[in-house]
Amino acid sequence: NKFEQLGLNESLLKAIGDLGFETPSEVQEKAIPLLLEEDTDIVALAQTGTGKTAAFGFPLIQKIDPFNRQTQALILSPTRELCLQITNEIKLYSKYIDGLHTVAVYGGASINDQAREVKRGAQVIVATPGRMQDMINRGMVNIKNISICVLDEADEMLNMGFYEDITSILSDTPKDKNTWLFSATMPQEVARIAKEFMKNPQEITV
Ligand code: AMP
Repeated sequence: NKFEQLGLNESLLKAIGDLGFETPSEVQEKAIPLLLEEDTDIVALAQTGTGKTAAFGFPLIQKIDPFNRQTQALILSPTRELCLQITNEIKLYSKYIDGLHTVAVYGGASINDQAREVKRGAQVIVATPGRMQDMINRGMVNIKNISICVLDEADEMLNMGFYEDITSILSDTPKDKNTWLFSATMPQEVARIAKEFMKNPQEITV
């Protein structure tokens, strides 16, 4: 199994085996070893369907401390559908890790229910930017201690007008976290986010 050579741990390898993934995709092969290292920011140009969710999901899961109940990672994605899809995948990948909890936070559903789930202890939050900002404003989440922030489909989020929400959310996170940005295209607004909020990001193209 070539996933072993990428540095992934036993719990992840077992889950990957259950899913029947045999060979890492190109973005996984390029991103996983980099993201498993300490203190890496990346900008990855990758389309949907390339396996990018696992490319950031595997190393993210490996870096979470399941014994610590604080929110440690935030994944921002443009739509409710994508948010739920990512949440499902993260749950599948982390099924052998006891105590690791992932919560989806998106508009159009009860904010109180989502806040309750977060409060129970979610190390990973997968959110749409508008609802995330709303929960921050209401003091329902604390992202001041996260170590990883993933911006998935960054170009889509910016197309949808989430620039203000994203920058405001990022300003609420620690400076020493790592940011992993995935985007299908690199318009100026995406480059601007990378320039203003990321530390010497390594670039990956697939
Ligand atoms: P994504 O680009 O993240 O939306 O992934 C596209 C689909 O490919 C998802 O359904 C994944 O479960 C699947 N997938 C991701 N990585 C692999 C892999 N290495 N081998 C087989 N299927 C994969």
